[in-house]
Amino acid sequence: MQRTFLGLLALALMLFFQRSPTVAQIPLQANPAVAIGHGGAIASVDSRATQVGIDVLKSGGNAVDAAVATAAALGVVEPFSAGIGGGGFMVVYLKDVDRVITIDGREQAPATATVDMFKNPDSPTGELLTFMPDRISNGAAVGVPGTLSEWAEALSRYGTLSLSQALQPAIALAEKGFTVDATFVSQIAQNQARFAAFSSTRSLYLPQGKPPVVGATFKNPDLAKTYRLLADKGINEFYRGDIGKAIAQTVQNPPVSDPPFRVISGGMTLADLDQYAVRVRPAIKTSYRGYQLYSMGLPSSGGIALGEVLKMLAGFDLSQLDRPQIWHNVIEAERLAFADRNAYLGDPEFVDVPLPGLQSESFAELRRREIGDRAPADEKAFRAAPGNPLPHQKDPSPSLTAPPAVAMAQTQEGLSTTHLVTSDRFGNVVSYTLTIESTGGSGIVVPGYGFILNNELTDFDPTSPHPNAPEPGKRPRSSMAPTIAFAPDGRVLAFGSPGGSTIITTVVGIAVNLIDLGLPMNEAIAAPRLSQRNGGITQVDGGLEAEELGQALTALGHSLEPVPEIGAATGLVIQSDGTLVAVAEPVRRGGGSAMTVMP
Ligand code: GLU
Repeated sequence: MQRTFLGLLALALMLFFQRSPTVAQIPLQANPAVAIGHGGAIASVDSRATQVGIDVLKSGGNAVDAAVATAAALGVVEPFSAGIGGGGFMVVYLKDVDRVITIDGREQAPATATVDMFKNPDSPTGELLTFMPDRISNGAAVGVPGTLSEWAEALSRYGTLSLSQALQPAIALAEKGFTVDATFVSQIAQNQARFAAFSSTRSLYLPQGKPPVVGATFKNPDLAKTYRLLADKGINEFYRGDIGKAIAQTVQNPPVSDPPFRVISGGMTLADLDQYAVRVRPAIKTSYRGYQLYSMGLPSSGGIALGEVLKMLAGFDLSQLDRPQIWHNVIEAERLAFADRNAYLGDPEFVDVPLPGLQSESFAELRRREIGDRAPADEKAFRAAPGNPLPHQKDPSPSLTAPPAVAMAQTQEGLSTTHLVTSDRFGNVVSYTLTIESTGGSGIVVPGYGFILNNELTDFDPTSPHPNAPEPGKRPRSSMAPTIAFAPDGRVLAFGSPGGSTIITTVVGIAVNLIDLGLPMNEAIAAPRLSQRNGGITQVDGGLEAEELGQALTALGHSLEPVPEIGAATGLVIQSDGTLVAVAEPVRRGGGSAMTVMP
């Protein structure tokens, strides 16, 4: 109640101050999810991980050092969302050269991947394996992990710490243990059948056949040993040494223990690990109402879809519309952008994506004209067909000559992953999303090494031909959208979210909240979410459907589906006067943690 009142007060003040929220307008309270101060800031989903980042900053490290150390700690305390068994995307703002770069640490398909890899081998008609649990809990779903290589690359290019130094706080956490919270327990409980199916996972996370209890101390000595090996011997131990051999062995022969579902093996070898390399890629830049937003490009669809939605919205003066009309336009722009995302985007090293056309103003203008005052009336139109960006291409050698006939169906993606943001006293900023795909990844802990392998290859479209079909050495299309934005008044904002394909709509929603509605970062993150991904229904945070906004959207023809939670985001702002505001979720995923070096 008090929060609602303060929120309204903040909003009123902000509108009064012409939509540029100042620190004084942000309700502070004793809220671990909001921190205001100086000297550097961190926000993540977990207070222990955030504290690790703050300690790194306090001892002289920069934002990249802090991002890696925080992520390594999340691999211990948040092991079902992220870790060295997975991948991720990092967007970095380098203050001294005033540049944004991105590092692609996405998992990669092994040489044995085929377009048929998710077909049921026993089905004469080539039916797909059921998504849950057959496709997500096996060796075949495991992509070559990129996270560790990404940490090493980020540190060697832009950090000041060695990998060994950045891993030390996480080693201590894994060795000495940490207090189990309700989120940790519930994530094990929701995966209990999968985790019990693999002996290594069962013995680590279901010690007496059930999850540890809230308040217990949890240690992971195997992970401490693994991090120590990496600290001492470097990442070759993972990509070319004993850890790599153990990964390949586990993928090829998952340590099954009477699984109640089919567990197919993967074909990953040490050669696949040896060949893995992160990519440093340019960011996708979108201009929106005077803001410059930099987000992740291919193989993530995040920045491109975000950009397409915002380009469509730029044609509406949202500030003059009422709330239902604002969110109606957002939903419709998302529907159209997802049709294009699903049809055209894939790993750019394999697919000639018609990017110039998709990113052109003229294409956005055409797509915008498809947005009416109401949701499409008939069921067929509810799923938008992809647009045709080809006539808008300046690319002299597009491989496609015609758009695909139908929008590809929405794929099922996990709802896990984690996002963190860091900034340092120099003004560098990191926005970093990392994942093992599903909550609990493949469910397979590498025996003796204490970390869970990803199931990222389920992000491929399992049918072909398709730009996102599985191929050897290809990276599955992602939705991750770590973003850094520069406001016309000099503020620097960083934000991002977990949540599979809802990441894109969450990031769109935060951007609209920040830019069009002028909300401060904490309100922009805490606000209810809506997610339209060209799948007919629009998912909303449970409860919104019954509120005035939900009812008004329903009256406009939208079909709203309440879901328990969409995206546990984090964000930060460097205010024009240098003050830092770090923000985590107040409630989602149990609430996150934001801190600054100095209050
Ligand atoms: N695999 C997803 C992606 O790369 C992330 C998983 C999630 O957020 O749940 O888009």
